[in-house]
Amino acid sequence: MAGVYDTHCHLNDNIYIENEITSSEMASEAKKSGVDIINNVGYDIKSSKVALVQAQKNKHVWALVGIHPTHAQFFTDEAYNTLEILANADKVVGIGETGLDYSRGLEFKAQQISSFTKQVKLAKKMSLPLMLHVKDIEGSTDAYEDVLSILKKEKYFNAVLHAFNESLEIAEKFIEKGILISINGQVTRDKNLKKVVKELPMNSIVVESDAPYDTPKPYNKKTNAPKYLPLVVDAIANIKKMNRSDVAEITRENAIRKFFPKR
Ligand SMILES: [Zn+2]
Repeated sequence: MAGVYDTHCHLNDNIYIENEITSSEMASEAKKSGVDIINNVGYDIKSSKVALVQAQKNKHVWALVGIHPTHAQFFTDEAYNTLEILANADKVVGIGETGLDYSRGLEFKAQQISSFTKQVKLAKKMSLPLMLHVKDIEGSTDAYEDVLSILKKEKYFNAVLHAFNESLEIAEKFIEKGILISINGQVTRDKNLKKVVKELPMNSIVVESDAPYDTPKPYNKKTNAPKYLPLVVDAIANIKKMNRSDVAEITRENAIRKFFPKR
């Protein structure tokens, strides 16, 4: 099977420190299971710095730096200056994760919109792709619509929509703009997502472990790790009636075009 590109994980998460497993160990376990490029994603300033240090230590690991929408209320303007400095480092391939998350209420909606807008402007300035985190309460699509309207206002659509699990209509609105749809372990167990994935064009799909979250079946009781990502590739291959090495290769090429455009 062609090497699998994990477009979104958090080797920087505290759970791996608690479990006494290093980023180098995780990257080498991932490589053994066929996952040989990893995007290590920040969610605040500290985790972005850790993501970068881990990327500098590990040949196959790259960093994204950003402030997660659910942390937006904690950061002042200076944090965004720091983010810009980090974004200039070698091995940074994107800005994120950023976006809008209305699933826990709208108390900090204004801060989320301001944080997201700042990060879209930074990504545009640096010609880096955005790693989008978008989440709504059940039955609403407001966060998705607000994200699209901000991207339209900034005229910047270079992005990946991470951990997608919404309707085909929503996916199509993003695909229309050239945004890639990233699929995680939910596809191994969620019937609706399977139906949506069946209809998505292969040139719009990338895969992610989303570790430490959303471990694919049958390991869903365990802490996730990039080494389990081939199970997501297998699930997509089953849904699409394709062979797994084609799914690995196409999703890898899609991701490389996005994160390494000048290769
Ligand atoms: Zn994440």
